[in-house]
Amino acid sequence: MIRAILMRTFLTGAVTVLGIVGAAAPANAVEGMFPMSELGRLDLTAAGLDVTAADIFNPDGLALVDGIVKLGGCTGAFVSDQGLILTNHHCGFRAIRDASTVEHDYLAEGFSSASFQDEIPAAGYTVRITQSYQDVSKEVLASITDDLDPAERTRAVEKRMKQFSLDYEAAHPGLRAEVSEMVPGKSYVLFVYTYLKDVRLVYAPPQAIGNFGGEEDNWIWPRHTGDFSFMRAYVGPDGEPAAYRPDNVPYRPRRVLQVSGQGVEPGEPVFTCGYPGRTYRQRSSSFLAHLNRCTMPLTVDWYTWQIEYLEALGAEDRDRQLALASRVRGLHNTAKNYRGKLQGIARLDLIAAKQAQEKELQDFIRADKDRRRRYGNVLPELEKFYADLGKVTPYELWFGWLRRSPEVMGVALTLWENARESEKPEDERDAASMERNRDQTLRGMQIAAEHFEPQADRMILAELLRRGAEIKQVRKVERLKRVLGEDGQIEAEDLLEHLFSDTRLMDPDFLVQAMTMSPAQLRDMQIPFLDLAADLDDEFQHIKEEGKRRKGLRDPLLAALAEVRGQFLGKDFIPDANGTLRFSFGIIEGYSPRDAVLYQPLTTVQGLLEKATGDPAYAPPDGMRELIVARDFGPFAASGGNVPVDILYSTDTTGGCSGSPVLDAGGRVVGLNFDRAWEATINDFAWDRAYSRSIGVDIRYVLWVTWKFGQGERLLEEMGISVAQP
Ligand code: ASP
Repeated sequence: MIRAILMRTFLTGAVTVLGIVGAAAPANAVEGMFPMSELGRLDLTAAGLDVTAADIFNPDGLALVDGIVKLGGCTGAFVSDQGLILTNHHCGFRAIRDASTVEHDYLAEGFSSASFQDEIPAAGYTVRITQSYQDVSKEVLASITDDLDPAERTRAVEKRMKQFSLDYEAAHPGLRAEVSEMVPGKSYVLFVYTYLKDVRLVYAPPQAIGNFGGEEDNWIWPRHTGDFSFMRAYVGPDGEPAAYRPDNVPYRPRRVLQVSGQGVEPGEPVFTCGYPGRTYRQRSSSFLAHLNRCTMPLTVDWYTWQIEYLEALGAEDRDRQLALASRVRGLHNTAKNYRGKLQGIARLDLIAAKQAQEKELQDFIRADKDRRRRYGNVLPELEKFYADLGKVTPYELWFGWLRRSPEVMGVALTLWENARESEKPEDERDAASMERNRDQTLRGMQIAAEHFEPQADRMILAELLRRGAEIKQVRKVERLKRVLGEDGQIEAEDLLEHLFSDTRLMDPDFLVQAMTMSPAQLRDMQIPFLDLAADLDDEFQHIKEEGKRRKGLRDPLLAALAEVRGQFLGKDFIPDANGTLRFSFGIIEGYSPRDAVLYQPLTTVQGLLEKATGDPAYAPPDGMRELIVARDFGPFAASGGNVPVDILYSTDTTGGCSGSPVLDAGGRVVGLNFDRAWEATINDFAWDRAYSRSIGVDIRYVLWVTWKFGQGERLLEEMGISVAQP
């Protein structure tokens, strides 16, 4: 049955959606994270919404999306005219961690600023607000000429994309411009953003609320997590975007979202706008098989090892635990998500379902001479592409982990690459080394340096080397040969001793200087980690070049696949999510995860207490139980008499939609998206009405907690919410 549903979804994709909605159906939920350019084609009334397309996005005036921001890799919403942003606790997590010490453990106890002056700078956080977009596919694709080999093709496209951004920014100082690839090899859009660089932490509930249920409940429904926090955007005294300075002033957003004190009821339509990260629904079965066989199991294995090691290391030492907290959280989140995906692929027999759909497509291609000529090889070539990729994936993943897992190695490589890339013209550099991204790159390294844990990095590097010795292509790398031993005998101790004898580069001030140095100057300092980075540079460059070559091979195939699929189905596709602004709608509704089980779409504080039976992950903060028992809910109880905690709904979301406001039919904030249910981890490959559910915090819980645990009514008043009983 599920298979049949899936087949239907694959065949029709997001395409039929427009048909369903157009046919004045009752409020519905459908697949699709729609770009703003698609809004005009949707029948929002039939979707149960009272807002129009122009209420959501309006290039000539104000609209809801002017109040919705991209906050780092998350989303957030302006909820006051003083730049107050509502987002997730897990989105503010690093800022809360950065501000925490053993004495002021804001992660454990929560943080609540008493006034604007007490708000804590959230270093490295930025805010983007989409101003406009423009299709530049023709201009970008014009950079590709017949004489280019695949790697040159990728470079030409990248260069043209960068030139667009740089030209636009030069002509419009203060704005940020970015070309996003909507469909690889086919469609490119220039997005223009207001870009704010001073973001501060305003309120975060204690972790016992913000991460109630911990990893056990992550990606799980029923849920009772208050995954929210408040931040604030600041600008210079002249109102222009500026880096942090104490005398900056709160940003005045062009549009503020109205917060509803009433929330929503099951069955009501909702919608969300935000910045979903990545989905892969338009990819081939061979891509999915590759992830399933190779990338995801290897990643889960490595992340699980790190989690166990890092958790044990931090167990007895809160300082260290805080330093490692963001890392551990991120590893858990991805590892569990991948486990959900692997399980989902097996449970739904997803690869076979995709193959069956491709067989139909291939029959369609074969039926016509011209189609045969143009598209006949697309699927077989993709098959070969991923078979070849599988041969180098363990080696390439290993080098990726070498860059990311021991943080000191990441800093050394970034410094080295920055020195090398800085010798090139701006539009030929890697993004991290471009002038416009320099501050962000430096800040990222400084944050890693401020929380440097040599013992953690050393053990992780030791384990990585051990694992590297098991991969033939890694053993062959010139610089590693002696250490890993071609016969698999590792002699890493001397290298580790040498490397960790000098960790000067993990000094935030040193990094400021080092970012201005040439490769020769970096070499002159004889810092072992920098020398290793320099010695491995060829290998990293080779992997990057291979990536470009493969992209140059793959993208025309993906473009052709999208084209012929469009012909087969008679419509275009909604592009996969790519970090750009999207709209999605659905209903507050439950689902059946398995035989005889039906999930309700709303949890309450009573359910929260039911979970609190002694496990520390499910311990509510001091005072909460008493408030619940006394029914001290103010105006925030729902019709059943309890404050709702979390809601479940059928909008189409993925990573990056974290922090997206959940809006009612009139566009008022009734919740805050933060997760998906276990079965919906598979959304990134296949959405289905039967199981695709997102999870949000009910706004009434946000307001009740902020009122009771966040120093009273101050923030509520700022959002225009009164606690007086109606
Ligand atoms: N909690 C999720 C995340 O890690 C949100 C999602 O993927 O739906 O980003």
